[in-house]
Amino acid sequence: MIYLICNIIISLNLLLICNSDGRFNNNELATETQTHFNSNQNLEKFATNKVIPNEIRELTLEALSYFPDLINTKIDFQFKNNIHGSVMQAQPKVGSLFVHSKENRAYKIKISRNLFLEDNPIPIEQLPDDVLLGWIGHELGHIQDYIERGSMNLLGFGIKYYLSNSFVTKAEIAADSYAVAHGLGEKIIATKNFVLNHDQIPLAYKQKIEALYLSPGEILSMVDPELGEENNTLEEE
Ligand SMILES: [Zn+2]
Repeated sequence: MIYLICNIIISLNLLLICNSDGRFNNNELATETQTHFNSNQNLEKFATNKVIPNEIRELTLEALSYFPDLINTKIDFQFKNNIHGSVMQAQPKVGSLFVHSKENRAYKIKISRNLFLEDNPIPIEQLPDDVLLGWIGHELGHIQDYIERGSMNLLGFGIKYYLSNSFVTKAEIAADSYAVAHGLGEKIIATKNFVLNHDQIPLAYKQKIEALYLSPGEILSMVDPELGEENNTLEEE
């Protein structure tokens, strides 16, 4: 039975899981007090239980420093050549989902080795620091969203994520909101602006981001409600 369930997860390419039970509240999260460790402090302590490719190690540790709750969480950052139309994906490791308690559960964040632009691919570590930090921060937002969920809950949400675009949007809003609440709002905006304004990023990817994800203006509303309102007004004009 467990084998069957694992296969279902794998075949559905369990992406990430949303929040449909209402325990997630953007405003509450956005106003949480955050403790952020500056980069001049020792970042190595955030490497506990993490596997990180050297090329992105420092930036990944910096992103992790915004999420002190994940300090002991097992996360494997894996370079991949192709992630089915995504640049990064955060998932629970299937093998640990039904074996370990949620405290000991392991996760992976798949990271596209190259960003595919229309002309030629560029290695992911060549992205501007803010953009890469925002991108990794968003994935850590997903993991922050998963850590308190039970295994069956994660399985159910994974299936819904696969079947429903509105569920995808909820999951993505949850991840962005956790990242904003942990002090990464400006980096998240930098990532979105980079994707939406880059003239070499394929149109299909931009359209996916526009359709399913929060806009830079909406993120700004979470970071600073007044500025966000002005920005949204401008966008409508
Ligand atoms: Zn996401």
